[in-house]
Amino acid sequence: MYNYLFGPVPSRRLGISLGVDLIPRKTCTLNCIYCECGKTTKLTIQRKEWVPINDVIDELKRYLKENPCPEYITFSGSGEPTLHTGIGIILDFLKKQHGTFKTAVLTNGTLLYLPQVREELLSADVVIPSLDAAIQETFKKINMPHPSLNIQTIINGITEFKKIFKGKLILEIFIIPGVNDNNNDLDELKQAILTIHPDEVQLNTLDRPGVLSSIRAATMDELEYIMQYWQLPNVSIISSPSSHVDKVHAAYRYDIESAILETIARRPCTVDDIAQILNVRIIEINKYLGELEAQSKIKRVMQNRGIFYKKV
Ligand code: SF4
Repeated sequence: MYNYLFGPVPSRRLGISLGVDLIPRKTCTLNCIYCECGKTTKLTIQRKEWVPINDVIDELKRYLKENPCPEYITFSGSGEPTLHTGIGIILDFLKKQHGTFKTAVLTNGTLLYLPQVREELLSADVVIPSLDAAIQETFKKINMPHPSLNIQTIINGITEFKKIFKGKLILEIFIIPGVNDNNNDLDELKQAILTIHPDEVQLNTLDRPGVLSSIRAATMDELEYIMQYWQLPNVSIISSPSSHVDKVHAAYRYDIESAILETIARRPCTVDDIAQILNVRIIEINKYLGELEAQSKIKRVMQNRGIFYKKV
């Protein structure tokens, strides 16, 4: 069992990806209405060593020794990874391993206005900041930020980072119909994209339960409309994870119960999700889920896409 690693999971963007979670659940600079990890319980912009760096590095050493190499090692999880002051040290450690994996950081981009954070992320291969609004009012509505955060400062920070970053920068935009898809928001977002000049823009929408039950996922038509409206190059809609699933069986783990718990501790999953992530038959997963439910370690939540399992 690992405390700071989860997966590897078939990521929609990165293939088979081992997750590194540097932040205690649920500590973030934002409290997004669509967050898969639930409501932010600690809204903060304080950077510190939230979990011991050496313990994370020890787990990574153990994982890399005992398991096949994933395609990516990705900093994500149940909070904002750049809140951890050791992220640069851990990225540098991974670079020195000369493994066949690449490193990625999924960040909400809110701390990239700090030169120190920009510096720390330079050794990553891929950085994926999110940007759901370019207007402060919409930013507050969709991301419910820490009161000190200003969206223009954040856009400036991401822009500065892109200028010095040698890896790939993918801007992720989460679309919630009725919240950030009106023409005014789309025009300002387009302007921000032109300023930041990312290598790619990916449109995403709700896939599993968010914080607010009143919000819904954008349809494919709605996402395609936005692409048409913007007429920008390198904009895509994130595809389903299933296309990555069969590629790297060897990267999967076999301690299934721990892997299920580590996976759903970060985000609720359906049986199908878990079966795909762990490459285990549904019938087998159901046995573990039944047992874990009986032990009150997990619970069910009903959503449009079916029954999701959450860690209790
Ligand atoms: S979606 Fe990401 S940035 Fe938003 S609250 Fe959740 S962890 Fe934080």
